[in-house]
Amino acid sequence: MAGKKVTVVISQGQGKNPTKRQLEEDLAAALIMEPDCDVSIIPHLYDLTPDHTGLLFLKSIPGDLVIAAWLFPRAARWVLDRNGVKGQPGVSLLPAADDEEDAAEPEDAPADAQARALGAWDVPHRKIYCLDLRQQADYRVYRDEVRRISRECSVQTVDLMSWIQGSPQAAQLERYLHPQGANPAPAAAAEEDPVRRRWYPVIDYSRCTNCMECIDFCLFGVYGVDSVDRILVEQQDNCKKGCPACSRVCPENAIIFPEHKTAAIAGADVGTAAGLKIDLSKLFGAPSALEQAVLERDVELVADGRDAVGATVGVPKRQAHKPVTRDALDELIDGLDQLS
Ligand code: SF4
Ligand code: SF4
Repeated sequence: MAGKKVTVVISQGQGKNPTKRQLEEDLAAALIMEPDCDVSIIPHLYDLTPDHTGLLFLKSIPGDLVIAAWLFPRAARWVLDRNGVKGQPGVSLLPAADDEEDAAEPEDAPADAQARALGAWDVPHRKIYCLDLRQQADYRVYRDEVRRISRECSVQTVDLMSWIQGSPQAAQLERYLHPQGANPAPAAAAEEDPVRRRWYPVIDYSRCTNCMECIDFCLFGVYGVDSVDRILVEQQDNCKKGCPACSRVCPENAIIFPEHKTAAIAGADVGTAAGLKIDLSKLFGAPSALEQAVLERDVELVADGRDAVGATVGVPKRQAHKPVTRDALDELIDGLDQLS
């Protein structure tokens, strides 16, 4: 099967960092020359509102998708999912950044948590590959990975076609390969339709067990439930900029704030820095994760003209037997923050 193109979407970084822009432009220029891919550029994925042309474009892509963003792949995947851009997670073979070569292998959620996790739903057969543009400085590494993915996707096309009904009609095939409206190619959308920076939680449903700790803890009406009582982020923009309080309360590390400075909160694979065993929060006298979350929430309540509530409202109770855990690196950085 030849001729199927993979769609590559480059999500621009926030701000106008010239190094980031250069990498984005070099990568776009290289991919335009590739016969097996269509490339587009959109503003920062996390900042897109539901009616933004960049998001409408993403939602119109029916086939395999590669998104290259300045985000951890886990964060990018669940931001897309939150916006209805769903697919099976594709496996990237991007080499690790030089300084991460010795990092521990990412850990999945424990087996019991995986069994209890909600998981994604309504997921179509196509694949979505998320590439982290912070991982490598050389655009050619990403170009080569896109080439590899493109080959992988054309092999999958054979599987998909036989899965549909063996041998598709020419018209069916044409509709699949060139769906109407699938490629308005809003290469200039990033410039024509600017976005403002946003701040809101993103739920990783591969880890979320629907325990409802977050909805109890948040006093700003951010969380809600759907028609079958699944937790969701309902009022994204009610969230308080810069505050990651509920991510510290979630017992499954399922709440991501993609722009938080701490990797564990921003969506790094859980356990990436797990080799670090020293509890520096104790050394530096940093408060526990729950205490810190309560403090952060009180700051926002007072800023809103409301009364601080301390630990009297919405603190974890359903899983009180279970300690609220954080990644060791998270604790290290928070400990250092206390010193500055
Ligand atoms: S606290 Fe975490 S695991 Fe529990 S419902 Fe919220 S996101 Fe899911
Ligand atoms: S960070 Fe604070 S305001 Fe935002 S969702 Fe979490 S608890 Fe609510």
